[in-house]
Order: sequence, then C-alpha cells, then structure tokens
Amino acid sequence: MTTPQNTHRQGHCLCGAITITANHAASHVDACHCRMCRCWGGGPFVEIDCGTDVVIDGADRMTVYNSSEWAERAFCGDCGSHLFYRLKGTGEHMVCAGLFDDATDRDAGLSLRRQVFIDEKPDYYSFVGDSETLTGAELFAGVAGEQE
Ligand SMILES: [Zn+2]
Ligand SMILES: [Zn+2]
Repeated sequence: MTTPQNTHRQGHCLCGAITITANHAASHVDACHCRMCRCWGGGPFVEIDCGTDVVIDGADRMTVYNSSEWAERAFCGDCGSHLFYRLKGTGEHMVCAGLFDDATDRDAGLSLRRQVFIDEKPDYYSFVGDSETLTGAELFAGVAGEQE
C-alpha cells in the first residue's frame, strides 16, 4: 500500500449517523474489481486510502464484518452505507470515496490512480482514463515484495 498524503477529508454515511474524519487521506482514488468487493457493494469498490489516522463519530451505530483473515469491512447499521475496508495488521482504512462530499465534486482534482483485480472485472463496465491496473496475482506479489 502507499503512504497517504496530508489531505484532510470528512465524509458521512447516507443517514448522517456516522461521520468519518481522515487527517492524512490520499489525493487520488483506487478501485477494486474483486468478487468480494463487488458482492459487498454491488459494483466495484472505489476508495480513498486514509491510512490509520481516522476518527469515527457515531461508531456505536457501525457494524463491522470480519470479511477475511486480514481485513474487515464496516457499514452503518442504520442506513447500510458502506464505510471502509480496514486491514487488521496495519489498521489502514480504505474509505468509500462516495462518503466524501468533496470527492464527488468534479473540481476536487481526484483522479483514479490504480485498479486492482482487473482480472476479476466483468465486461459490463469499464472506467475511462489512464490508470495503473494490476491483476490479483500481481497485487499479492507486490504486497509480499513490500514486506520483505
Ligand atoms: Zn447511516
Ligand atoms: Zn476487492
């Protein structure tokens, strides 16, 4: 994973019960096309890497699903908005881009940096523009390389 940049972002779920404040959010979005993400969200997971410096207001309304050995996924128990994918080992939060008001602003300057699990993307959608693409195998090879 990459080092998030020093961008302050605040977002909230659909009903407003939960607010997420990130002090060191990345200034780009990443997307995952894997089967689990698409099952979870109904489509590709588009997220902003917010690192570990994340403050959650209304966490008592949040439900955390233990989705794998290495990660968990959280959603609002009231409105069902997906909130983030969190790595258990590092505490790093990949927060759903749609929660941030400024991320939906066309002038926010956010661009799609990387798409992972491109090999699991169905043919019925594609993103426009240039971005790095990695297969699941390439992603895992890179993560293993970073840890060595
Ligand atoms: Zn909510
Ligand atoms: Zn995924």
